[in-house]
Amino acid sequence: MAVVGPEAAPSQERSSLMAKVKGKNTKPEIRVRQILHRMGRRFRLHRRDLPGQPDIVLPKHKVAIFVHGCFWHRHPGCRLTTTPKTRVDFWQKKFDENVQRDRRNIADLGFAGWYPLVIWECETRDVDALAASLRQRLPQQDWAAGQAMAPFFSGCSNEHARDCTSSKCVPVLDKKPASASESVPLER
Ligand code: ZN
Repeated sequence: MAVVGPEAAPSQERSSLMAKVKGKNTKPEIRVRQILHRMGRRFRLHRRDLPGQPDIVLPKHKVAIFVHGCFWHRHPGCRLTTTPKTRVDFWQKKFDENVQRDRRNIADLGFAGWYPLVIWECETRDVDALAASLRQRLPQQDWAAGQAMAPFFSGCSNEHARDCTSSKCVPVLDKKPASASESVPLER
């Protein structure tokens, strides 16, 4: 089990939850890897040199995959995204920090020419559905790997969207990069 952070100091139940979430090689992560393996995709794990240390990286096609726990990373609208009833401020602050960090990591990966993909924990429960979803969401082999994907936020006019704190400003995941036929203008 992973080491529990000093900020935890909570009940045993929560300690084990925390460890599970902070740890690598979680069950959802392993499910995603197994499917990628079956698909014949080559991948590497936990690349420390990339923003946010993505859980799985497909180096050939520059795809960076995060397998996010719904609770910690606040999967919008998910029933796993609960909020503890005690120490509400503490948790809220923690959650906000996590979401902001995720946002920056996704933006930075996009700017660096990587294709960020978030798989939520709840999406990994049904392995067949997960496989179908992965097949659909992985960028096509011919996507311009290495091409920066700057316009990665929607619903916000803040130019500094990477650090924007507006709740309306959400990163657009799985956005296909601009191609010759379907061009996404960089300027408004
Ligand atoms: Zn979820």
